[in-house]
Amino acid sequence: MKQGKAIVVFSGGQDSTTCLFWAKERYAEVEAVTFDYGQRHCLEIECAKEIAKELDVKHHILDMSLLNQLAPNALTRTDIEVADGEDGELPSTFVPGRNLLFMSFAGVLASQVGAKHIVTGVCETDFSGYPDCRDIFIKSLNVTLNLSMDDTFVIETPLMWLNKAQTWELADKLGALDFVRERTLTCYNGVIADGCGECPSCKLRQNGLDEYLTLKKGLKA
Ligand SMILES: [Zn+2]
Repeated sequence: MKQGKAIVVFSGGQDSTTCLFWAKERYAEVEAVTFDYGQRHCLEIECAKEIAKELDVKHHILDMSLLNQLAPNALTRTDIEVADGEDGELPSTFVPGRNLLFMSFAGVLASQVGAKHIVTGVCETDFSGYPDCRDIFIKSLNVTLNLSMDDTFVIETPLMWLNKAQTWELADKLGALDFVRERTLTCYNGVIADGCGECPSCKLRQNGLDEYLTLKKGLKA
C-alpha cells in the first residue's frame, strides 16, 4: 500500500516528470513544486503546469526571480550562449547555488504541507559538470535541512546513478515512456518533445532514447 507524502521538485522536463511518475507510484500523496527563475522559455512553466494538471497533482509555482538577479546565466539570458564547459570549467548553463536554493525552498514547503519525502531528478552519472547534482551534495543538504528544521526529511534521488538510457527505461517501466517523450521539455531552445536536436540537452536526451530503444528491440528479438 502507498504511504506518506512527497514533494517532487518539478521542472516539466524528462527527468523530473519521470520522478513525478515514480513518486505517484510510491507515495499516497504527491505534490509538485516548480521554481520560476526567469527561464529563457516560459513555455517550461506552462509545460510543467499542464503535466501536473493532467497527472492530478497539486502544483506549487514559486517565484525565484532573485536567482537571476544574483547570477545571470545561459538558462535565463538569451545573450549568453549555451556552451559546454571546457578544460575543467563549468558549463555556461551552470547557475551557482541553484540546487542549494531550490532544495532548501522545497524543504520549507515540505515542512509546510507535512511531506517527509523530497524527490529530485538530479543525477551524478550525466551531471554535465554541475557540482550540485552530486550525491554527496544531496546527502550533505539532507543533513543540513534536518538540522535546520529539527525534522526527518528524506531526499529521494531515483535517477542519481542512472544514465539517460536507464532513465528512459525507468519511464517505460512506469508506463510513461510516450508521455515523457511527447509532453516534456528539456531543450535549451524551447522545443517540446524530441526538441531542436542541436543543443547539448537534446543530444543527451536523444542519444539516451536511441540507446534504450535499441536495447529494448534487441531484448524482444
Ligand atoms: Zn534542443
